[in-house]
Amino acid sequence: MLRASLCFRTPFSVLSASAAVRFAHERQCWKCASALLTTELFFCGSCGVVQAPPPSASFFDIFGLPEKCDLDGEELDRRFKRLQRLLHPDKHATKPSAERERSQASSVLLNQAYQTLMDPLSRAHYILRLHGTSVEESRGTMMGPDHQTFLADMMEKMEAAHDAPRNAPALLRMRDANEAEMLATFQKICETLDRRNYAASVDHVIRLNYLSKLQDVLQDKTSPQ
Ligand SMILES: [Zn+2]
Repeated sequence: MLRASLCFRTPFSVLSASAAVRFAHERQCWKCASALLTTELFFCGSCGVVQAPPPSASFFDIFGLPEKCDLDGEELDRRFKRLQRLLHPDKHATKPSAERERSQASSVLLNQAYQTLMDPLSRAHYILRLHGTSVEESRGTMMGPDHQTFLADMMEKMEAAHDAPRNAPALLRMRDANEAEMLATFQKICETLDRRNYAASVDHVIRLNYLSKLQDVLQDKTSPQ
């Protein structure tokens, strides 16, 4: 039992302080009724059985990572693969149905959390949602002083991208410049999110949405066929 307990506990030893506060009183193992530690999101430390993470756990909590826009992608990958192995339905195929169902549901949740956090743009959307700001609802209220100029510029570039012949040198230049602008915009998103200036972040996220749509077209038209 001790070995099982150690082996289940190890992967979840790092959890942010805010998560520990949020789950302070709530959880008990559904199987053996042991109180679950704040670090035992997916497994009971006593009996090792799969648990459903508390609904208040954020996608960052799921990986035991701090809520950060500029996330360490390799660390996220490592933690995802480890949890994916532990939760994989095949690993629980011979267990009673209550355990199988929980491992399946947790697997789905884990994948959803990974898909959301691994893409910088969707991660920024998610952080804003966590703080009650929806980019969709804010779409009409871009606040930057030059947003009309930005939108006109985007429309013009989109047209140019559609009209230009494949692999035209101008397209390649546009693609590289747009990529640089995407990176700079993402940096601004992270700076404003870190300062909790969500209104300003939304503005940059909307811009990044436009830039990344343009980038899709540019990539498509500059890739070898
Ligand atoms: Zn238990």
